Parts: sequence; structure tokens; C-alpha cells
Amino acid sequence: MTTTELPVAKRGAALLNDAELNKGTAFTQAERDALGLRGLLPPRVMTQDEQLARILPGVRSRPTPLDQYSYLVSLNDRNVTLFYRLVMDHLEELMPVLYTPTVGQACEEFGRIFRRSRGLFISAEDRGRVREVLAHWPSDDVRMIVVTDGERILGLGDLGANGMGIPIGKLTLYTACAGVPPHQCLPIAIDVGTDNAELRESDAYMGLRQPRLRGAEYDALLTEFVEAVQERFPLACIQFEDFGNHNAFALLETWRDKVCTFNDDIQGTAAVTLAGLLSASRLVGVPLRDMRLLFLGAGEAGIGIGDLVVEALVEDGMSVEEARRHCWFVDSKGLVESSRNDLASHKRRFAHDHAPTRSLLEAVETLKPHALIGVSGTPGTFTTPVLEAMARNHPRPVVMALSNPTSKAECTAREAYTATDGHAVFASGSPFAPVTHKRRTHVPGQGNNAYIFPGVGLGVLVAQSTRVTEEMFAAAARVLADMVTADDLAMGRIYPALSRIREVSRAIAVEVARIAFDRGLARAPRPVDIAAAVSDTMYEPVYRPYVGA
Ligand code: NAD
Repeated sequence: MTTTELPVAKRGAALLNDAELNKGTAFTQAERDALGLRGLLPPRVMTQDEQLARILPGVRSRPTPLDQYSYLVSLNDRNVTLFYRLVMDHLEELMPVLYTPTVGQACEEFGRIFRRSRGLFISAEDRGRVREVLAHWPSDDVRMIVVTDGERILGLGDLGANGMGIPIGKLTLYTACAGVPPHQCLPIAIDVGTDNAELRESDAYMGLRQPRLRGAEYDALLTEFVEAVQERFPLACIQFEDFGNHNAFALLETWRDKVCTFNDDIQGTAAVTLAGLLSASRLVGVPLRDMRLLFLGAGEAGIGIGDLVVEALVEDGMSVEEARRHCWFVDSKGLVESSRNDLASHKRRFAHDHAPTRSLLEAVETLKPHALIGVSGTPGTFTTPVLEAMARNHPRPVVMALSNPTSKAECTAREAYTATDGHAVFASGSPFAPVTHKRRTHVPGQGNNAYIFPGVGLGVLVAQSTRVTEEMFAAAARVLADMVTADDLAMGRIYPALSRIREVSRAIAVEVARIAFDRGLARAPRPVDIAAAVSDTMYEPVYRPYVGA
């Protein structure tokens, strides 16, 4: 892919204005002559490395992360190849700019920083015309769609049409982390209104100025959307992102066995957490099948993790009922147990027989969990007494404070290490710096979904899978856990370094594609070498010469 020549589809200014074809100052003299570019560019021909050396200080000199974000967006609008070269070469530095936490601010300020539309907006006013809207997208070969209705953007709540920043950011990570070709990605915002009255009335808001559509009308629009995607982009995978809790579960249940779709908040989070638990089990010397897990929070993330842990234990030969009994939940009303009659359907399967228990501390003291997993979005809930109780129960308690952003984490890394006298195996959702406790340095793991979803998407794309299954997520988790080295574990780190993310994504994609082929879900012919097919598909941000130039 990287060495073939590009056909000449455009010339002159039109070529420079096409961000996917543009090379800017890297057009050679021969190309400038052949493509009518002479005079339209500064005279010096630059290599891509020279362009990077010019651009990188420009990014770094921007005064705020949001300014850096805007700078990068405009680079992507001008020169996709150079944008991805920059992002891939500096992923650890730029991931927090292109995704959390800066993308949250970018969504909040969407109206102010908006320059040029990207992706598709489908609004409540498009009911009955969604096919027409999808037809306007210029490419037929869309393989990865990330869609949000903006109701629950990160930890920020309802941002309506401003949520578009999330699908854009997530798809950037598909390409940067796994090499999903950018021209096959499509971000979509479904604008059904917003219940955020302040946002709705603000001058800069560009979405529909109406309360959210709910009930049958909402369901009809979403059904029309999914069905229209099947017709227009039959090979596309739809990733639902940042929907409100109720709709997220309902959409997944409705579509997971009918089309190629998944929900990263539920299933991607589950896989990255399962991977962390598998590595932690190596570190503490207790197999997952012997662990008791206690979750604080029984929402999309918590239930998703519980379901995938059950899937993994069942794959290891346990019954579903027994596997579920390894997972316990505390929600805002206390322990999820069988005498409660206020439980939403997704919680009921984890309601075991137990005395009513109001507090997390009491639950930790009676259940003695090996691992405590925070997915509540409520900071400070892993108090010192809770963490001390974890350390009394087990020599190496596992503590995962996954709520994002950092300010929402159930406890900080330092609090976890201090309260457990350095014995905790700690991971978080947002990054924490290493902590030195009693002269030992601990490196917290970051359970970043970006370890999982790009590789899963790439595997699905290579196989042209008709479904995304729980087995694929469980396999992705095992692949990720297997890539944690003895050196990582020695530092207390239960995830591989983020710098290895392309390698991780490639390995996950191979496994996901293999499952699709083995289970008869693939529409692509089975390649002789799946790993080679995955590598060949991965986008590389290199300039290709133009035919004849
Ligand atoms: P959600 O709204 O679906 O669920 C939140 C749950 O927490 C609900 O069950 C709620 O009742 C419960 N809860 C809230 N306050 C509580 C309290 N004080 N005590 C007990 N339970 C409480 O949200 P979600 O999508 O499940 O996300 C939850 C958190 O997980 C968010 O902060 C999100 O940032 C984080 N998350 C992290 C990752 C990651 O690290 N990879 C991925 C996804 C979500």
C-alpha cells in the first residue's frame, strides 16, 4: 500500500484543497510540474520529516490544550497524512489533546471553535429522510462509524449536538492506534435536541433548540438510522458512544445480534478492565476464577465489566450462575441484592442473596473482595477506611478507580498506596503519575479503552465481520493482558506502555479477525496469513508519489 503510486484525480488548487491527497510543501518539483502546482506553493520542497520539524513546535507553542486541539484539527483539515504522522509519532503527548480530557472541553466550546463541518449530522427533523442524509456522504466505502446522541458526553452530561467532538476524536484514535484507514471512518452526531437548557439557549449552540426526543419517536429515528446504514454502508461497523445509560443498553440489546455493532462504554471498558484484572491476578497470585469482585457503580461500565468477566469465566468452564456470583455491585442505594425491588433489568442478574447493606465499607468488610472496581463517577468514595479494609482482607488488594476525568476518580493513586502501605495493585481510568511510598516507586496502570477498541475495529474491518461478539472482547482482553511484561508487573503496572499501542492493536485485530473467520461471521475470504492481512490493511501516513510525476 505504501509504495504504490497515486492516480492523478485532481490537479492544482483543487489538489491542495483535498486534505487526503495534499502533501503541501512535500510535492516534488516533478509533481509540481505535472500537477499544475508550480507557484501555488513556496519554492522549497520539504521532506515529511522537515515538515514535522516545522509543525511540532507550532503545536507545542499553543498556550492551552484547547488551542493545541484547534491547531491539530486545522492541520487535519489541510493535510491528513501529515496530521497522522505527527499524531502517531507523538501519541502519548497528543492523545490527551485529541481525546480526554481536552476533547471534553472542545465539545463544551464546540460552537466557539467550530470552523469547518466534519462528519454527518442527523437531526430529529430528518426523520423519514435519514437515507438521503447518508447518501450525501462522499465515500461509499465506510467501514467504521462512531455515533453519539450527545446525552452523556464523558463525565460532562448532556451536550447535545456538541457531542460531535467525541466521534471525531474516537475515530482519530482508530487510525492513530490501529491504522484504520481514515477515509473509511465516518463520525456521526444524532441530534435529538438537548435537555441542557443553558446550552440550548446559548448563542453559539448549533444544534436543534428543543428538548430531547424520547420514547417511540426516539426509537424510530434510531431504528431508521441503523437500517439506513445497512443499505448505504453494508460493511460498516457502528460503534455507539456516550449515549445515556438507558438508551445505551437498549440499543445494544436491540442490535448486537442483528448487525455489526458494539458499545465502547459498555464493552470496550469491560475488555480493558478484564485485561487489568487478568494481569493483576498474575501479580497477586490469585487466578481470576478464585477472585471476588466488588463494583462501586452498576451502570454501563460496571455491568459491562461484570458481563465480560462472566463470559471469560464461562469460557474457562464455569457455569453462568457461578460466574455471576463472583461479581457484586454497590450502587447509589447500597448493595445490589435479591431483596431489592428497585433494580433496573441490567442489574438484576447480579442481585445475589445477601442481607441489605447500605455502605461500601460494610460491603467490603462482609464480602472481602479481592478487587474493588470504581465506576461510579463519584470522587472520594474509596475512603481511607475502605482501602484499609481491603488491605486487611488481602495481602495485595486490587484497586481500580476508573471514573474519569481525574477529578472524578474514586481515590487517587497516592491515597490507594498510602492506605494499603504500598500493597495495593492500583489502576485508574485517567493517568496518575508514579507514586513513591516508603522509597518504592509504584507505576499506576491506566485502563484506557484505546488499548481495545481500535484493534477490535481493525479486526472486524479485515474480516468484514457481520457481528462484534463478547468472545471477541474477551479475546482482546486476553491479548492485552498477555502483552504485559514481567518488567511491567515488577513496577506494579498492569497494562503495557502506551507507546506499544500499535503493536497491541495489531495483535488484538489478528485475534478478533480469526474469531470472525472461525465462527463463520466473516464476509471477506479467509486469507492464508491473517496477521499479514491485518498488517497490510493498516494505514501508514506516508506520502505516495503520483503516477507519472
Ligand atoms: P453510568 O451513569 O451508566 O453509571 C454510573 C453508576 O454509578 C450508576 O449505577 C449509579 O447509580 C452509580 N453511582 C453513582 N454515584 C454513586 C455512589 N456514590 N455510590 C454508589 N454508586 C454510585 O456511567 P458509566 O458509563 O457506567 O460510567 C461510570 C464511570 O466510569 C464514569 O466516571 C466514567 O468516566 C468511567 N469510565 C471509565 C472508563 C475507563 O476508565 N476505561 C470507561 C468507561 C467509563
